[in-house]
Amino acid sequence: MTTEPVETVPMTAPIFDYLKRYRFKKVVLCNDTDIGLRAVIAIHSTALGPATGGLRMWTYATEEEAIMDALRLARGMTYKYAAAGVNLGGGKAVMIGDPNKDKSEALLRAMGRIIDQLGGEYITGEDVGTTLEDMETVYSETDHVVTLPEHAGGAGDISPATALGSIEAMRACAKRVWGSPDLTGRSVALQGLGMVGSKALPMLVEAGAEVVVTDVDKQKVEKAVNEFGVRAVEPADIYDQDVDIFAPYALGAVINDDTISRLKVKVVAGSANNILADERHGDELEKRGIVYAVDFVANSGGTIFDTDRYRKGGFQPERAMTNVRRIFERIEEIFDIADRDEVPYYRAAERLAEERIEAMNKVRLLDRPDTAHY
Ligand code: NAD
Repeated sequence: MTTEPVETVPMTAPIFDYLKRYRFKKVVLCNDTDIGLRAVIAIHSTALGPATGGLRMWTYATEEEAIMDALRLARGMTYKYAAAGVNLGGGKAVMIGDPNKDKSEALLRAMGRIIDQLGGEYITGEDVGTTLEDMETVYSETDHVVTLPEHAGGAGDISPATALGSIEAMRACAKRVWGSPDLTGRSVALQGLGMVGSKALPMLVEAGAEVVVTDVDKQKVEKAVNEFGVRAVEPADIYDQDVDIFAPYALGAVINDDTISRLKVKVVAGSANNILADERHGDELEKRGIVYAVDFVANSGGTIFDTDRYRKGGFQPERAMTNVRRIFERIEEIFDIADRDEVPYYRAAERLAEERIEAMNKVRLLDRPDTAHY
């Protein structure tokens, strides 16, 4: 008897391949037909604690785009928390839709119920397309919400903590370059006077730094000049200033092909997210001998403050601020790894995160084999 050969068709599985490559724990696809909810919850790692990350609402063109966005962002959160010394894992959720048209109480509560059913494996929060008030609505269905207004038991405005952490990061960079964390007499070009930048400015002035500021909002510039007697320049000129430190507090991708050759500084440190337009700009900073406070650690103060309520005894602002100040040590650890492995700072920050996760996995394996997820 002859048997027909079984034809094996290789399965194309871009999402499963991505999950495998980056060691994801799971992805949950959520649907509520009546309410019109379509959402994705990506859980990258729970090695350090519950997978935590904001709930984004966005008009994705395809379902693959929505899933990939959740995956990419969840993995970023794992690194952010691990490198910042926060005991949380990485996760992210996205809802497909236009936040201005499709968001409703029913939609948010349906999402809250689904999050609740995960039993604390995923903790959500505010993100692009969702607000603190939306989080209050989600909170009515689940306790697993991290960013909440003060009246609902949350930390409220986290920008002062973000500002403090970014200044600590800057001081660590100053110590590496000039041998002292003292900012007295250091000149700083501060880009962006929004929530965080406006709080960083008085800290810099008080530390004795000479600050030159810019913002596209003329009123904010005028206020800074009047209140602190600082010099102001046009937004386009901030990169050309003859100063010691460039402090980005506005936009991402400000270290790019156009700006990098214009900088005369020795340090780049601020609160902006995704400061490097591309990884190769991190290599370029290194070549030019510019010390860079890796963004996701330098701007983690708000997160450290916000998530303090998940630590023993609930939210304690003083303890939270002490941990925010430890960003100084985290940045120094990055420098140590960069020196040890001879890699650029952005790569060293990733290694710091990976080493912490690996070490914690060993602890969990020894302790409770069932909790090793990463
Ligand atoms: P924000 O929107 O309150 O402030 C941004 C400021 O930058 C605004 O005043 C805006 O007018 C100005 N701006 C925009 N484009 C500019 C340009 N081309 N040149 C000069 N100024 C410009 O935002 P924020 O909450 O202060 O956050 C600032 C940065 O820090 C963002 O990149 C944000 O993602 C990041 N961040 C913020 C927090 C936080 O606690 N708010 C936490 C982590 C990271």
